[in-house]
Amino acid sequence: MSQLRMPGYSHNLLFLLSILWISGCVTNPVTGESEFGFVSTAQEIAIGEQQYGPSQQTQGGEYIVDPELSDYVTQIGNNVAKFSNIALPYEFVVLNNSVPNAWALPGGKLAINRGLLVELRNEAELAAVLGHEVVHAAARHGAKQMERSLLMQGAVAATAIGTQGTMVGDTVVQGASIAANLVNQKYGRDAERESDYYGTRMLAQAGYDPYAAVTLQETFLKLSQGAESSWVEGLFASHPPSAERVSNNRGLVETLRSEGYTGGDYGSERFQAATRQLRTDAQAYKDHDAARQAMLDGDDDRALSLIQSALSRQSAEPSFHALRGDIRFRQKRFDDAIINYNRAIDRNDKYYAYYLGRGLALTEQGQRARAKVDLNASVELLPTTVAYLELGKIAEAEGNTDLAARYYQAAGQ
Ligand SMILES: [Zn+2]
Repeated sequence: MSQLRMPGYSHNLLFLLSILWISGCVTNPVTGESEFGFVSTAQEIAIGEQQYGPSQQTQGGEYIVDPELSDYVTQIGNNVAKFSNIALPYEFVVLNNSVPNAWALPGGKLAINRGLLVELRNEAELAAVLGHEVVHAAARHGAKQMERSLLMQGAVAATAIGTQGTMVGDTVVQGASIAANLVNQKYGRDAERESDYYGTRMLAQAGYDPYAAVTLQETFLKLSQGAESSWVEGLFASHPPSAERVSNNRGLVETLRSEGYTGGDYGSERFQAATRQLRTDAQAYKDHDAARQAMLDGDDDRALSLIQSALSRQSAEPSFHALRGDIRFRQKRFDDAIINYNRAIDRNDKYYAYYLGRGLALTEQGQRARAKVDLNASVELLPTTVAYLELGKIAEAEGNTDLAARYYQAAGQ
């Protein structure tokens, strides 16, 4: 806020409002209705592209044990998305995360966790999940949230324009911090209803039996009423299931049937084949999740034995090696920790936490040069306070006080 310059304030605010006034109307590509809006499609796409990498990093990174699974999800996603009425540069990824969840960034960047894939029964249910998320992106639900936030921050944004440059650039920067929250945000009931409605319609147009949208919601509803807390913190935080949604979907299926959408596909066998590896590894991931919990509870022996069990079932999973590294780090066995982080990075060299873990272990060993390389690699993938603090300490120890100050400043942000 140090850049607030009061003299230019009112002028800039007027400038911002005039731009909103000029460009304040857009046609919703999904509903075809005209509505208030000022974040352009190009800006939505830019924000989605900017945030896709960091958003994936905060959510476990890419699932890499079976790369064909991401290809499969991409194929099903594109097959549904082509009925969305807007040719966004859609992308789909499977994330290495046990929490059942799926999300969409503005501009059509989507993700589904492996923890949700193992709960689905067939390809049609997968298409229903992806169709629902595609509509969130296509119908500008995320962009509308950003517009609301930007309007509330209008004064701040106007000042930023005056001091830092162009409208587009600053809107994107402002929007980026908002988009980071999009992964776990609630869209509101109207947006959910719209996503269910058009998503189910796209499901039928893509050749699936739309009834899959009903069985999917029934499963969500049943699970949300159970004691499975990870479900509540995951998908249901952003897409609350309800009896109303089940009955709405039922009504829509009747309508679609009367329009001739009958005899659609479920794709059960294709889905079972595509997710075979994931289901084979289900126990290994359960062991891993229990090991992490044991480590957080301070029971290192139990954590080690559980992660050993996970590794004996699936040694290709980098996060299993990294968790073993984390446990060894806690025990101050830094040599062993580094060996485990090496194995994780050998298997996936695009996830920040593995570099961060190894960088911190190297720091403990006084290996500054190698630590810096790893800490910088982690920051490239996802900037974190802990990495900047360590980089600051190293710079300070090397007598580079200017650089240290910049790192500490970055850590503070
Ligand atoms: Zn939703």
